[in-house]
Amino acid sequence: MSRAISPVRGAVAGLVGNTPLTRLSAISAELTHTLWAKCEFMNPLGSVKDRIANFMIEEAVRDGQLRPGGTIVEATGGNTGVALAAVGATRGHRVVLTMSDKIGPDKVALLHAWGAEVVICDHRAAAGSDHHFVSMARTIAAETPDSYLVGQFDNPRNVEAHRRTTGPEIYAALDGHVGAFVAGVGTGGTLMGAGGYLRQRDPAVRVVLADPAGSILAGAVTGEPVEPHSYLVEGIGSDFLPGLFEPSLITDAVTVTDHESFFMCLRLQREEGLFVGGSAGCAVAAARKFAETLDGPPTNIVAVLPETGTRAMATLYSASWRAQHGLTDLGE
Ligand code: PMP
Repeated sequence: MSRAISPVRGAVAGLVGNTPLTRLSAISAELTHTLWAKCEFMNPLGSVKDRIANFMIEEAVRDGQLRPGGTIVEATGGNTGVALAAVGATRGHRVVLTMSDKIGPDKVALLHAWGAEVVICDHRAAAGSDHHFVSMARTIAAETPDSYLVGQFDNPRNVEAHRRTTGPEIYAALDGHVGAFVAGVGTGGTLMGAGGYLRQRDPAVRVVLADPAGSILAGAVTGEPVEPHSYLVEGIGSDFLPGLFEPSLITDAVTVTDHESFFMCLRLQREEGLFVGGSAGCAVAAARKFAETLDGPPTNIVAVLPETGTRAMATLYSASWRAQHGLTDLGE
């Protein structure tokens, strides 16, 4: 597929997707199966969310939900916000993002750099109350003429973007020889979309949920409910069931502790040369555990690396932050 820069929409749209699928040599050497990494951190804005931001905005323009010069509104302080800010800026839309005041200053500065307006909300506001960041986005969208509320947690185009791009890219890269696909769930777009596509092509493909210990999602797959508790990996796992989450599409769930996720991030950096965020460590740690339990002839197991490690400089790549959180024996 062409990577030519579109003069109309800027480089962002032209560079999204077609990310490399790379073999994890050092980690695979310990296993009978081969682990592969889908390098979503190599999207232009540094995360898997470039795919959905680009697709959801293109489709909203196509069907008239977002008009030329209209305002894009979303509740997110994370990667979706960065991707929407960039896509919006290059397409000439105002972008308003609401987020909790827990989000660090670096992320807010990055959003401002792209010209997005950021509305900071009190993280103590109860879900459903007027001051909660999700309600605030709805209010802003309702009060702003020509606005479009993206709604990534309920927007089926989030899944569709991965069904059309991420899934087919993986299938093609391995000539259809995919044994398992492993990813965490934030909204569920990646796992449901790419996993759904791969299972449709080959019903024997295992679709594996990588879930942080403390999230309730693995319990929804296994039928063994878990008591939610907080954890440090960002962007995946949940204490509620996201609207796009379909446990029936998932064949296996693997629970991963913060320690295992971050240990794997440091291994990926030092042994494979991949600098990625905590959810990537969680996916690869889950893929490795899954590989150890998978009988049968050697197969290909694909894990998603959703975001660049530069988003985690103040957290998992800071030795003092790790020490503060008792993560001191990660092999350094
Ligand atoms: N990793 C990170 C860092 C994320 O921000 C997200 C999305 N919240 C995910 C993984 C999960 O992606 P999805 O929303 O497609 O389930």
